[in-house]
Amino acid sequence: MSETPDSEPLGAIFRRLIANTGPISLAHYMGEANARYYSAKDPLGTAGDFVTAPEISQMFGELIGLWLADMWINAGREEPIHYVELGPGRGTLAADALRAMKRYGLEPGVHFVEGSTALKDIQLETVPGAQWHHDLSTIPPYGPVLLVANEFLDALPVRQLVMTPEGWRERMVVPEGEKFVCVAGSQPMEAAVPEARRQAEVGTIIETCPAAAATVYEVAGRLVEQGGAALFIDYGHDQLRDGSSLQAVRSHLKVDPFINPGEADLTAHVDFATLVPIAQSRGCKWLGTVPQGRFLRNLGIDARAQALAQTAPQHGPAIEAAKERLVGEGQMGLLFKVMGLACPGWPGGAGF
Ligand code: SAH
Repeated sequence: MSETPDSEPLGAIFRRLIANTGPISLAHYMGEANARYYSAKDPLGTAGDFVTAPEISQMFGELIGLWLADMWINAGREEPIHYVELGPGRGTLAADALRAMKRYGLEPGVHFVEGSTALKDIQLETVPGAQWHHDLSTIPPYGPVLLVANEFLDALPVRQLVMTPEGWRERMVVPEGEKFVCVAGSQPMEAAVPEARRQAEVGTIIETCPAAAATVYEVAGRLVEQGGAALFIDYGHDQLRDGSSLQAVRSHLKVDPFINPGEADLTAHVDFATLVPIAQSRGCKWLGTVPQGRFLRNLGIDARAQALAQTAPQHGPAIEAAKERLVGEGQMGLLFKVMGLACPGWPGGAGF
C-alpha cells in the first residue's frame, strides 16, 4: 500500500478552502475525500480497509459471468460485444467472470471505468487486455454492452438536504476543532426536494446521489440503443427512506467520516427505489431488485460450492464459509441488493 509522498492532508486543504470561500457541500466533501482515498492505495482485501464480494470467493464473479453469458446467448450471440465494469477494484470480478464466459464462447472486449491510478496498475496485471476509461462516454457506441458495477455506486458523492425551521437547506461541511461537522446552508433548497417529501419534521434529512442517477441514466440509454444488460450490486435499500447513511470504513472498522478526510472509504447506501424509474425513463427494462443471497442462490451457488469442494476437499470448510458470507442473511445476503437492467428486446434474466 503506497501513500502519495508529500501530499498535504486533504483536511488542511479543506480548512483553507472553507476559510477563503465558506462552507463546502457534503457532496463536495465526499467526492474529494474519495478521489484522494482511491487515488493513492489499494483499499481491498484483508490487509486493506474492506473486503468486497469478489475478493471473498471466485464463485461471485463466476456466477455473474454465467448470468451475462446466458443473457448474451438467449439474445442471439450478437458481436461485437463489450464487457464493461465500473470501478473494477483489483479486477478480480472481471477475471472470474471472463473465465466463466469463455466456457460458453463469450469473449467480449473489456472496458474498465476506473478513477484510481493505483488500482489501474493492479487491474492491468489481472486483466491484461482491458481498456481504461474515465467515464462511460468513450465506451464503443455500437454493439451490446454487458455491464457490471459492484460496490461502485455507493462510493459516489451524496447530497443531503435537511429540514430546518426556515425550510429545506443543503447540509454543508465546516471545521470544528480537529474534525469537521455538518451545518445547514443558507440557501433555500425547496426546489431540490420532491413535492411528495417536502412536508417533513424539522431535522429530517433526505439523501440523494446525483452521480448515481446520472450513471444509471447513461447506462440505461446505452442498453436501449446498443442492446445488452447490466447488474448493479450494492449495499442499499429498495424503498425510499429518510436519514443520513454516510459511513466511513478504515482497517475493517467503522470510523467517523468527518475525521481525516481522504484516509477512509466513504460510502452511502444506494437508493435503488429512485434509480429504477430513472432507468425506465429511457425505455430500459427493469429486471428486478433482489437481495444478493437470493440472486446467487437462484444462480446455483450451492451447487457451485459443492463442486468446488469436491475437487479440493481440503478447502471444503473455507468454501462453505465464503458462500455463507455472500448469501447469509446476517452477512451480505440481505443487505446487498442486485438491480438488473436490460434492453427491451433482451431476455428477462435468471435470478430475479
Ligand atoms: N468493484 C470492486 C471495487 C469496489 S471499490 C470490487 O467489488 O472489489 C470502488 C471502486 O470504484 C474502486 O475501483 C474505485 O477506484 C472506483 N471508483 C470510486 N469512485 C469512482 C469514480 N468517481 N470514478 C471512477 N471510479 C471510481
